[in-house]
Amino acid sequence: MPRRFAAGDAVMAKWPGSNLWFKSKILNVNDDGYEVKYEDGTVEEIPSTDVKLESFFRTRSRSRSRSPGRRRSRSPARKLSPSRTQQKKSRSPARKPEKKEVVETPVSRTQEKRTESKISRVVGNLTFRSPFKKTAKTQTVIKTEQHTYTTRAQTRSGKQQLEIPAEMKSGRVPKTTHYEFGGPIGTFFMILGIPLTVYYLYFTCQPSGCQLSYKPPISLDWRDYYDQEAYLFYIGWFFFQVILGLLPVGKIVQGQPLRSGKRLSYRTNGLFALVVTCATFGAMVYYKCPVTLIVDKILPLMTAATLFSVFLSLFLYIKARRGPNSALAAGGNSGNFFYDFFMGHELNPRFGSLDLKFFCELRPGLFLWALINMACLMKVWTEFPDNPPWNLILVCVFQFLYVFDALLYESAILTTMDIIQDGFGFMLVFGDLAWVPFTYSLQARYLADHPPAFPDYCLIPVALLFSLGYFIFRMSNSQKNSYRQNPYGKSVAGLQTIPTDTGKRLLVSGWWGFVRKPNYLGDLLMALSWSLCTGFVSIVPYFYPIYFFILLVHRERRDDASCRQKYGGAWAKYCATVKYRMIPYIY
Ligand code: NDP
Repeated sequence: MPRRFAAGDAVMAKWPGSNLWFKSKILNVNDDGYEVKYEDGTVEEIPSTDVKLESFFRTRSRSRSRSPGRRRSRSPARKLSPSRTQQKKSRSPARKPEKKEVVETPVSRTQEKRTESKISRVVGNLTFRSPFKKTAKTQTVIKTEQHTYTTRAQTRSGKQQLEIPAEMKSGRVPKTTHYEFGGPIGTFFMILGIPLTVYYLYFTCQPSGCQLSYKPPISLDWRDYYDQEAYLFYIGWFFFQVILGLLPVGKIVQGQPLRSGKRLSYRTNGLFALVVTCATFGAMVYYKCPVTLIVDKILPLMTAATLFSVFLSLFLYIKARRGPNSALAAGGNSGNFFYDFFMGHELNPRFGSLDLKFFCELRPGLFLWALINMACLMKVWTEFPDNPPWNLILVCVFQFLYVFDALLYESAILTTMDIIQDGFGFMLVFGDLAWVPFTYSLQARYLADHPPAFPDYCLIPVALLFSLGYFIFRMSNSQKNSYRQNPYGKSVAGLQTIPTDTGKRLLVSGWWGFVRKPNYLGDLLMALSWSLCTGFVSIVPYFYPIYFFILLVHRERRDDASCRQKYGGAWAKYCATVKYRMIPYIY
């Protein structure tokens, strides 16, 4: 049983994701652990097993380290530390003001050999200087009053160790000087154009016709866009999801290190929320509640989501303006209202433990998309109970699997660009809350009104295409996530990698040696399969794969530029080794 501590106790706490222990103070005692404050000011929630008494370490270090001086002299972190004399000074209580502490975790020769052999296995036949070889002998951490610097050693658990570059020292977010999406003018038009596209698609795809050439009567009567029931449903829906997201169910996981070195905690209970949502929907169907209203009132519902997104984005922009600079997103801090409003001024807006970006990315919009699909299916099937609409069933099953997969691997989103890089502004808010449910459900809505006239067996190759896409998408995403979590894990053993100056490595074999974005390729194949279910009569339901291809090409370019900046020559070497970006021999 780990010892229980109380608020205010001085303890040693493990740094999340590493084997390193630092002096800290208990701030709060939680059900499953503690909220601790490290000496550098970082506050983290950690499990109770990661908190120990200081005396525990003193005893252990005396018994283990027979010759600390010698070990320290071999440490590559000597470069970071001042001279030996200074180190002695810093250890002397009389010279305390310098407050510099060196913690060493010795690694035995057997462990050292094991580490080296693992390194050579991972490295494979590529020849380059291994940044780990030098540091495998000791893990050295130099902790100053404000910051923690680590060498590039791997931790014994194999997890990649946190490294805080010097430029993060101040934690200040610089002004955005490099514009994306055409800068302030481009983003201004996107703020208008993206919602208009959602409405355009709605009016173009009606039960009476669904062609680009179709000229539907566009309603200018505001009453068509307002429906109290739909608005209340939307607000209730959003807060229902907030409540589910806050329930103490599921694991707490740590995000990637922020600019300040701090890591945020996220509760991953998305799958639980999806199951509860589906069960509620099922109960409503069972009790004959009018669930098809979601489809019948889709125009006011769409408007409710649009207005909600605009207000939420404005609120977040104002909140960010009043908040500290260190909370801002590096890409949304230009000083121009339209640009920052669109890109997102704040990186991770939070209310208590609710991280709005993490919540919106995978919950209200994604679930609503699945619900709209199900409501379409319900509508058609209850009308023609003897004639199962196979195309529509397949679209609903495929897309539900896609949503389910996103929730099953919920924590994987923490390593995506949206979470790490992009602020939470109109682009993501509207994208998550309105764009996803109302444009991604286009195929199901089309099929509900326009059943295609081709035989059901034609759906077999479509199902195979979806399976292939899903296989590529899942395997490649899992391979990268597994490698990022534990480079020595069994599933990634034998893969070739390229070292980078940051200490991270890039995969150059396996899925990531096939093309540079195998996950995008898989995603695109799935998107195509959904539209193929609608046949070839109208191009409108093909909007999603067309738009998605453009989005992914642009996204790949953004990520390429960011990786080039992050990894420099190593990224160039990766691009030279893996020539194709997304589609082998084509692109
Ligand atoms: P990725 O998952 O490809 O993440 C990019 C990051 O992966 C890079 O910045 C880099 O980060 C790391 N990386 C790149 N190449 C390598 C390599 N060779 N070895 C190791 N690490 C590498 O991109 P996204 O975040 O854009 O997408 C995540 C998923 O979400 C994809 O499957 C995508 O299809 C899907 N998606 C779906 C959307 C939708 O609307 N349906 C929209 C957008 C995305 P680092 O090195 O720092 O780890």
